[in-house]
Amino acid sequence: MALLSVAEAQHLVLDHTVRRKATQRLLSPAILGTVLAEDIQSDIDSPPFDKAMVDGYALRSDDVAAGMQSFRITEEILAGQMPTLTVSRGEAASIMTGAPVPDGADAVVMHEQTQLDGRNVRLHMLVKGRQNILPRAAEMRQGETVLSAGAMLRPQELGLLATINRTAVTIYQRPQVAILSTGDEVVEPGQPLKAGQIRNSNAPLLTGLVGVAGGVSRYLGIARDTVASLRPLIAQGLEADVLLITGGVSAGKVDLVPEALAAAGVKPIFHKVSLKPGKPIFFGTCGSTLVFGLPGNPVSGLVGFELFVKPALQKMMGKPEPFVPPTLQVKLVVDFVHKSDRPTYYPVQLTIHAGRYQAAPVPWKGSGDLRSLCRADGFAVLPAGEVRYAAGDLIDVLLPDTYS
Ligand code: AMP
Ligand code: MG
Repeated sequence: MALLSVAEAQHLVLDHTVRRKATQRLLSPAILGTVLAEDIQSDIDSPPFDKAMVDGYALRSDDVAAGMQSFRITEEILAGQMPTLTVSRGEAASIMTGAPVPDGADAVVMHEQTQLDGRNVRLHMLVKGRQNILPRAAEMRQGETVLSAGAMLRPQELGLLATINRTAVTIYQRPQVAILSTGDEVVEPGQPLKAGQIRNSNAPLLTGLVGVAGGVSRYLGIARDTVASLRPLIAQGLEADVLLITGGVSAGKVDLVPEALAAAGVKPIFHKVSLKPGKPIFFGTCGSTLVFGLPGNPVSGLVGFELFVKPALQKMMGKPEPFVPPTLQVKLVVDFVHKSDRPTYYPVQLTIHAGRYQAAPVPWKGSGDLRSLCRADGFAVLPAGEVRYAAGDLIDVLLPDTYS
């Protein structure tokens, strides 16, 4: 049977993924990156009055059109103050940016284009009606919907919410993601490393990826390669919205994760996808919990996360489609030859030259080579078979951080 393609596997994951519930949250940086579950209306006209856009003088444009060049200054209006006098023929009010334009005036002349002459101000230029004035409610009207359900909350949205006095909003909950490392050889950093052992890089790697994607992670520790060790930790992990397990999903003698997951009641959806690195990836469900078994090699884990886990997290958080990461066409800077029986995600370094990205493959030693991955900014998506590119050819590049 042909292996599932990446796109088929992504569809299966998203078919089993549902958006999380909505909840009320206070306005704070903790909700950055979450998605609104309600439409938001403005409580005010903004600006609330005809507003001066520059520091200068408010006057009547007709006076200037009639040839007047000197104006008597009536008062000074600072931002936060209300005008007290109407501007009449031959008069001007000194006004600061953000202050309300007084009655009678229909234009503001920039301070830099005027000269002070005792209690008068002089100018030698034409003035257009409405110049440098933002009319009341030009930005938004009271009652108008200014943010719609589905909008992602970035710093600018938090600023707008504050402007319209929204101190709490309804958003879709962040997914809870349990992370479980596995392997008899895997030890936590800080412990002595015995012969044959390796350090647990996947726990911080996946914790970081979950955080960047907007999820909330819970680390469960390292399970040993026995069903007895895996079982209780898997049971804990199944309480989360998503369980990420690394290691133990390949065809080795102690790759017991699929068996232990079956015993815990996880329904397998797929096991193996046509890609490199990361072919032995497992996906299943248990009730509403999604379970991903990522191969233990860190680069496989990262590629599997970006291609399959992150899209699911985006859908759970109510983010807009497309959930799967986009690719960008980028020029190669060197000749490049690659051969594989599967589509390959090959780490590349990106630089900007003459306003365009360009890509160079990093010297990569395979799916465990986290060091080379740290030199890379993205992955070239190479088709199966032998591919021969010349410098200057366009290749598709997946940019992990551009869609968070
Ligand atoms: P596995 O998928 O369990 O066969 O593991 C594949 C490779 O990844 C082996 O070389 C493991 O030692 C390594 N590996 C497994 N888990 C981790 C981990 N948490 N951190 C770093 N390497 C790991
Ligand atoms: Mg293992």
